[in-house]
Amino acid sequence: MDFETKYSKLGNSLQSSLIRELLKYASVPNAISFGGGVPDPETFPRKELSQIASEIIEKEYAYVLQYSTTEGDPELANQIIAMLERIYGISNLSENNIMFTTGSQEALELAGKIFLDEESIAIVEDPFYLGAASAFKMRFPKFVTIPLEDDGMNVDVLEKELKSLDEKGLIKKVKFIYVIPNFHNPAGVTLSYEKRKRIIELAERYDLPIIEDDPYGLLRFEGEPLDPIFKMAGPERVILLNTFSKILAPGLRIGVVIGSEQVVRKFVLAKQGTDLCSSALTQRLAARYFERYDILQQITPTIKLYKSKKDTMMQAFEEYFGDIKGIKWVKPEGGLFTWVTLPEGFDTMEMFEIAKQKLVFYIPGQPFTPDNKVSPSMRMSFCLPPHEKIVEGVKRLRDTILEYGKT
Ligand code: PMP
Repeated sequence: MDFETKYSKLGNSLQSSLIRELLKYASVPNAISFGGGVPDPETFPRKELSQIASEIIEKEYAYVLQYSTTEGDPELANQIIAMLERIYGISNLSENNIMFTTGSQEALELAGKIFLDEESIAIVEDPFYLGAASAFKMRFPKFVTIPLEDDGMNVDVLEKELKSLDEKGLIKKVKFIYVIPNFHNPAGVTLSYEKRKRIIELAERYDLPIIEDDPYGLLRFEGEPLDPIFKMAGPERVILLNTFSKILAPGLRIGVVIGSEQVVRKFVLAKQGTDLCSSALTQRLAARYFERYDILQQITPTIKLYKSKKDTMMQAFEEYFGDIKGIKWVKPEGGLFTWVTLPEGFDTMEMFEIAKQKLVFYIPGQPFTPDNKVSPSMRMSFCLPPHEKIVEGVKRLRDTILEYGKT
């Protein structure tokens, strides 16, 4: 049977991810990888989780080993409501404003499902988070891309694009503005308070929803925390996506959609056709964990660890990249990533061949561009390699850049 003849348009469009291909090399001995965006396993609270897991399987087996509702665990929903109130001062939410997903990747896929048709337009950032790109692309929409600056999306370009879509009679086709407000993946930048306000004003002017994807907000190392767009504009305008992957453990696969009752209901209906429900076991595990431990205290050592690794990387950049003309890098105030941009004419995809020989790995910027164009940038994650490997890896990268620059 030649299955090729039977695939759908979507099936035919699916391609192996370039990042997966590139990261295969990163596991060779003596390699140093800044590629993967995964948390350091040493930050997972394994003792606490294993104790709670055995307790709940024994005592609450009828709930945790059963199918759950599509909306998810009401106890966890109440923990989230309390956390949003305590951390951000967000009030007036009920269980009906909340639905749990299998990681926030599923929420992105469901957002694509409920909002996007082939002729739809999604407003996204450039560079564009790859997971969102693959989720949205499954619906074959058009993208209008807004360049990122050091303080987030260029809101003047956003305004111009929206005005022009309105003048062409296309504004009704625009389904949402997708934003990663804090410590962007891949760009490391944070959206300023002024720009948050401008985006809300524009969304109100053209009556557009905002999808705020915030996996990293609690991982702030320095600077002042900023209000979530969700807090500033409310559930009638904003859908907030959150995840426990970076503050607890990605293996639990718990994400959460927070929005108006009306939109959450739609997410619930869409999820029924995807996976019926997420794991009751991991949701109850997380609920009991948040009940017993203060998440803000629990993540303090994680923040300290990532900050010190970020500082090590920034110092190594000063030392080894300082004399490379035209190179720039983002100094992230939190999260897992920085974004390094080489001088014009550099192509980090082509340079990868030299990096491979020198056993240092990064993610070239090209797959993060919405139209897969050549990029002089690269994403580097500082959270996984030990400090001394960070320094050695940056040294190897300097040699790579110098060698590529000569060719
Ligand atoms: N959104 C962003 C911006 C991310 O960086 C990630 C994880 N890399 C996700 C969503 C998905 O996370 P998860 O499915 O693990 O919750």
